[in-house]
Amino acid sequence: MIRKILIANRGEIALRIVRACRELGIQTMAVYSEADEQSLHVQLADEAICIGPASGAESYLRADRILSAAEIGDVDAIHPGYGFLSENSEFAEQCESCNIIFIGPRSETIMKMGDKAKARETVAKAGVPIIPGSDGPLENEHAATKVAQKIGFPVIIKAVAGGGGRGMRIAHNAVTFAKEFQSARLEAVKAFGNGELYVEKYLESPRHIEFQVLADMHGNMVHLGERDCSVQRRHQKVIEESPSPFLDKNLRNRMGKAALKATQAADYVNAGTIEFLVDAKGNFYFIEMNTRIQVEHAVTEEATGIDLIKEQIQIASGNRLGFTQKDISLTKHAIECRICAENPSKGFIPSPGEIELYSAPGGHGVRVDSHAYGGYTVSPYYDSMISKVITFGRTRKIALDRMYRALSEYLIRGIDTNVDFLKAVLMDPAFRQGEATTSYIEEFLARMPKDFLDKQSKD
Ligand code: ADP
Repeated sequence: MIRKILIANRGEIALRIVRACRELGIQTMAVYSEADEQSLHVQLADEAICIGPASGAESYLRADRILSAAEIGDVDAIHPGYGFLSENSEFAEQCESCNIIFIGPRSETIMKMGDKAKARETVAKAGVPIIPGSDGPLENEHAATKVAQKIGFPVIIKAVAGGGGRGMRIAHNAVTFAKEFQSARLEAVKAFGNGELYVEKYLESPRHIEFQVLADMHGNMVHLGERDCSVQRRHQKVIEESPSPFLDKNLRNRMGKAALKATQAADYVNAGTIEFLVDAKGNFYFIEMNTRIQVEHAVTEEATGIDLIKEQIQIASGNRLGFTQKDISLTKHAIECRICAENPSKGFIPSPGEIELYSAPGGHGVRVDSHAYGGYTVSPYYDSMISKVITFGRTRKIALDRMYRALSEYLIRGIDTNVDFLKAVLMDPAFRQGEATTSYIEEFLARMPKDFLDKQSKD
């Protein structure tokens, strides 16, 4: 049985894992960088150990230091959270060879699904629809142009090792293709140390709808319904909700079945997410699998009543899933807004600094997952997300009205945030009617008066 877990992460997700462990009676060990000494995850974990300077590359990404900390702490397991080392198959393998349980899938599964071109091939073989595109990574620009011409423009050029919306380029014709291909390659090398690229047909204004799955070591697997993550900025999610206002029962069943097929094809164990793009007619296509817990997992938790972090730990302990597909339903509507320290009036640039005054929303149907507090300094070294506000209720309308109310209560002084921008989206009729696609924010901003963003920075 797992007695003690090292949390190889920071911020709200580290705190979220500490909380789940507390409820399960499991000891926790936090790791932290010099910039995070005052962080809540450090204060709330049973033990904490510093693993290096502020830069992620020198701390949270240092597998050697984390494994040394694990040895010092005599832990049984490591939870990687999201980002950092969570999808690093070498790290998972190192944990396995040190006899430390990696709370996630096996290292070979991470490798198989982490290569997005290989993942496409794996699920396509199992009969899951994929977007027309290249078979595997493209040798060079010449081969890529041929594929692009065959599938027809516009196309999207993507990094095989991609993530976080980086390394993606859209090409509308053969003339711009070469330039986009080159810049995608440069960005992929810089961001992922791997310049391999593949090409897909670019879908115009699809919806991003993903399925949460859980699979145990005994061959049992379930999906926990979908999350609609269409509200994105630069291919990065901003607002997520479950259920999707777009899916009906029939489409949910068909997509859920496809998600389970993909999970099975990956020979998957633990929590994962199967991401799809869905066109206006309801045709859906696999885009990738995330082999870790997602930022937006909380909306599934509130919609289904299932604690995903506890499930991850139970699965990693070798336990069987305590439910079957028929026990799972989306009984509530849940929505999440990502609160970021950023300045909408300056192109959403990060706005790190000291939070002078902080008061989070509360009340019925409101959950706030955050590591922020008054006096806390948001570091420029990490992601600008400082909080996730999740609201839920019997209907979508209740959840949305509650979100607007909750955001109106948020007091954050000293840094700029996107709270007012999110409130404006929540009041927008197109969003409220469930019409948002992945082009939504761009279209929304185009509809707004010129000085709209200037008025959206809050201090
Ligand atoms: P990442 O791994 O970087 O997050 P994904 O493959 O998950 O990249 O795609 C992120 C987002 O990029 C999608 O939600 C969607 O908005 C956009 N996108 C990706 N592929 C396509 C495509 N073929 N057509 C249209 N948009 C796409």
